Amino acid sequence: MPKYIDIHAHTNFKVFDENREEIILRALENDTWIINIGTQYDTSKKAVEMTNQYEGVYSTIGLHPIHTTASHHDESELGADGKEFTSRGEIFDKEKYRELTKLGKVVGIGECGLDYYHLEEENIEKQRVAFISQIELANELDIPLMLHVRNNPNDKSRNAYFDVYELVKKYSTRGDTKGVSHFFAGSVEDMKRFVEIGIYISFAGPITYKPKPEICDYEAVIRETPLDMILSDTDSPYVAPVPHRGSQNEPTYVKHIVSKIAQIKGLDEVDVAKQIFINASKLFNI
Ligand SMILES: [Zn+2]
Repeated sequence: MPKYIDIHAHTNFKVFDENREEIILRALENDTWIINIGTQYDTSKKAVEMTNQYEGVYSTIGLHPIHTTASHHDESELGADGKEFTSRGEIFDKEKYRELTKLGKVVGIGECGLDYYHLEEENIEKQRVAFISQIELANELDIPLMLHVRNNPNDKSRNAYFDVYELVKKYSTRGDTKGVSHFFAGSVEDMKRFVEIGIYISFAGPITYKPKPEICDYEAVIRETPLDMILSDTDSPYVAPVPHRGSQNEPTYVKHIVSKIAQIKGLDEVDVAKQIFINASKLFNI
């Protein structure tokens, strides 16, 4: 059993073309397993293919809510020549994604969910349609959901966490391992609702930053989240934890997140790391 697990990284992204091998080997040498996350068809395919190259590297496949519309382009994800993927919004094609599961170790569906950060009204419906379709695929394949949930800090009129909760509750047929909300940044109440229906809570780099409780009171959320429902993720290449803040993030840094969770909970770091791996192995069946 490895010491750590980063349940949400994107070492499948273009930005890692230069140092992918080095970064993955460093993680594995540091006893850290990785789940690489697909965000649209091409990054999903890449994530699955990578699982055949290494022991301890897994994948999820799915369509990120921001890729259901044409507006978003991230160079680190797709490369400067990635325009052909982003000139149109992708429509989630269940059959095409189902085929991908034959190519390697696929342990979840997503990242999928709702993103209200860059929200334009007509996009909500597209996000919901793609999300429901992915919940159905997760049901069919009997694997959990990798959830992306993001609010707009300037518009409190909607709560993406509540809307995701309602959709998962309505459509997911899995029991107490429905999925995980990665990079959790909701309230204690949002966390409790998720835990109640079998959604795990994963914390990322921002928990190591200077607290901004007006945005998210991580300390309160971490204190209240049951240890057997907690996971850890880096979201590499984004949001590196302290002491690497500002540099390219990588799965090896997940240990700083685990250490912060242990500190906030007043528990031994080794025990917390062990429990997180047990949780991940239960949820993802690895
Ligand atoms: Zn992500």
